[in-house]
Amino acid sequence: MTASFSLTSLSPGTVLHGVPVVAGVQYAPVIRPGTLPTLDPAAGADLAEADRQSERERFTAAAATVAGRLRERAAHATGAASEVLAATATLAQDRGWLGAAEKRIKEGAPAVRAVDGAIDQFVEMFTKLGGLMAERVTDLRDIRDRVIAELNGLPEPGVPLPDVPSILCAEDLAPADTAGLDPKLVVALATTLGGPTSHTAIIARQLGIPCVVAVTGLDDVPAGTMVLVDGTTGTVTVTPDEAEAKAAVAEAERVAAAAANWSGPGATSDGHAVAVLANVQDGAAARAARETPAEGVGLFRTELCFLNRDTEPTVDEQAGIYAEVLDAFSGLKVVIRTLDAGSDKPLKFAGHPDEANPALGVRGIRIAEGNPRLLENQLDAIAAAADRTNTRPWVMAPMIATAEEAKAFAGHARSRNLTPGVMIEVPAAALLAERILEHVDFLSIGTNDLAQYTMAADRMSAELATLTDPWQPAVLALVAMTVRAGTATDKPVGVCGEAAADPLLACVLAGLGVSSLSAAAAAVQGVGAKLAGATLAQCREAAEAVLVTASAADARAAALAVLG
Ligand code: PEP
Ligand code: MG
Repeated sequence: MTASFSLTSLSPGTVLHGVPVVAGVQYAPVIRPGTLPTLDPAAGADLAEADRQSERERFTAAAATVAGRLRERAAHATGAASEVLAATATLAQDRGWLGAAEKRIKEGAPAVRAVDGAIDQFVEMFTKLGGLMAERVTDLRDIRDRVIAELNGLPEPGVPLPDVPSILCAEDLAPADTAGLDPKLVVALATTLGGPTSHTAIIARQLGIPCVVAVTGLDDVPAGTMVLVDGTTGTVTVTPDEAEAKAAVAEAERVAAAAANWSGPGATSDGHAVAVLANVQDGAAARAARETPAEGVGLFRTELCFLNRDTEPTVDEQAGIYAEVLDAFSGLKVVIRTLDAGSDKPLKFAGHPDEANPALGVRGIRIAEGNPRLLENQLDAIAAAADRTNTRPWVMAPMIATAEEAKAFAGHARSRNLTPGVMIEVPAAALLAERILEHVDFLSIGTNDLAQYTMAADRMSAELATLTDPWQPAVLALVAMTVRAGTATDKPVGVCGEAAADPLLACVLAGLGVSSLSAAAAAVQGVGAKLAGATLAQCREAAEAVLVTASAADARAAALAVLG
């Protein structure tokens, strides 16, 4: 055993828990992004009237320089990295906060103080708005730091370039920090804040490096500390035993190599078929998913096509977009979900009321109550796309809570010769799944929302991430109940929430009896390969074991004990 100098007060082997975002295991030293030297924005007397105009010009130039640099990096990056950098550049030039800062300078504040105050004002506003807006707070703070550094003639804050492969740990990461990362040098990410949909998560998925977010206690791990990040279990082990850590990395590499060889179709090792499908959000994503062994599309999130639209797209335009996805998977199963607008995915043209609790408000199918044409136009568009492509897609409604809602939706779909189903995301729907199945032909379980509503915990909250873990036995009990309803009525029940992207949990879901698993394209091979390595009896044994546990951690451990 080698005696090692410890950089942290945490004892060797301490396991910190977070939310797993991208699977994989890495063992390397920690690096942390550079922070700004502490600046006291309150310091400095108010500016004389005569100096205010030139200070405003200095500020405008600094903000433009920062935006320009971000745009330049966006031009050199690709895919999601380029998009997030471009979005941050746009935010850096947003009239709202620029105007607020200029106003402060006009009133006498020096530029640094004005920037700090204006950004604080917008951070507060975005935080109150919650959901996706709250996740942009990190971007706003990043812009503040860059503009202040520019005003003070300091180097831009950001990620240091490591000389050995390293694990980037931070409170949260702004897109500008993560977008240009070299995955050979930054081999994993871990953050104290952030949710599964934060920019950190998006970039990690694109880079294909393990990632854990919302890690409690990570702030106490300084740069230089050796850590083992496990993006499958969502853990960060501080100064682990070196031999054990290296063995864990080697095992993860073996699993990844096996996954890369999996070519479908989805089945257990003894031939029990469970279709492995892809979640997509547009034609481009569908074409990319078609490159994987995915056997179809289990969830087409249509609302994501229209997040930036002010007005409802015409039936013809919608039909064109849906037809692209149907074309990509021609001859295979495609499940199109009708607009799941509201809560963290507001659509301007859906006419959302002002609500104190949008996650519990008028979202998903509930919008059709006040705006029936929106649903009917969309179903017309799906039917037109089906005709154009000569396919018969399945359609499903989000956020169904009652059998009445399912019945009404099924009527609309059947009258257009579409196969109707509904999502099970609300505990009420899981409890009465059998009655819902009197009206529709299939169910698809959305474990993201089912966890949120079962555990009464906001799915966007990093603090509550342990509660919204789909391994929560209460959530799995509702999944089991839903599947039983499907078996009793001989109708298919799939899972399309993030739970289906976790290879171990996917096997448990297969053991519970689901007929399909639909996950992000990047997760398809990992899920398929894990399933192919287990017998149906093992999956069932794991399913029985998790249902009698009392915590998410115990459920995971019980499944691991059976499925390895
Ligand atoms: C879910 O809730 O699990 C789901 C698949 O829907 P979304 O994540 O789009 O809300
Ligand atoms: Mg949902």
